[in-house]
Amino acid sequence: MGRLAPSPTGRLHLGHARTFALAASRARAAEGRLLMRIDDLDTARCRPEFTRAALEDLAWLGLRWEEPVHVQSRRLDRYRAALARLHAAGLVFPCHRSRKDLAEALSAPHESPLHPADDEPVYPSAWRPPADAPPPPLDSAGLACNWRFRVPDGREITFVDGHYGPQTAVCGRDFGDFLVWRKDGFPSYQLACAVDDAELGVTEVVRGADLIRSTFRQLLLLEALGAPRPAYHHAPLLTDENGVRLAKRHDALSLATLRASGRHPADLLAEP
Ligand code: GLU
Repeated sequence: MGRLAPSPTGRLHLGHARTFALAASRARAAEGRLLMRIDDLDTARCRPEFTRAALEDLAWLGLRWEEPVHVQSRRLDRYRAALARLHAAGLVFPCHRSRKDLAEALSAPHESPLHPADDEPVYPSAWRPPADAPPPPLDSAGLACNWRFRVPDGREITFVDGHYGPQTAVCGRDFGDFLVWRKDGFPSYQLACAVDDAELGVTEVVRGADLIRSTFRQLLLLEALGAPRPAYHHAPLLTDENGVRLAKRHDALSLATLRASGRHPADLLAEP
């Protein structure tokens, strides 16, 4: 079972098209199924019209997926249940530090090649509550704070990527205690993605290479939830003529613009 998981935060561009088409063609080649998941938990940036547009653009590209479409904002009960399991297992702790606290604590440059500036900062282990301190309950007050997954410091997480080959990261060095729940009452991307991949029976994840670092966190969550690992295939990101990674602001390469200018889907997908 493969999946397409657009975030409806803007119009899809050529880079998305290539990655999603790869996911679809790999599923087809394996005679597997393909599901559609809408990653709409970033309430400040997601808009329903972008969901509609993404489905339209992907259908225009010729991609086909199974119904029903799985919309993350309608699956909150599943994520709460998963958080409760992590909580019962003593794997999460509440965090009352702000982003600013974290930024100040980390003003010294962090030296891991796996940890570029745009990644979630490595949480200072000195801020963790002791491992044997019982966490507060997950009542309504509990669900209104940030929760972090306590990573097993020093443990090496490895997987073999279908495109990039063997990948390794060390917990506590390349990434730290990461957010699983946000105080606005929504799960983090990492938790929602792991829960969905597990519960929807995804066996191969095809997505952009910017998410390789997330894979290590999701593998820890899948293990904690007793779910099998899918295979991972991260696709290189498209860049513009200046070598800048394509983003939703590159309107000229949005599928909407390309479609309006008469471009044909097969040509867009075939070009190097
Ligand atoms: N929604 C994410 C994106 O559009 C992809 C998440 C995933 O494939 O796990 O970048």
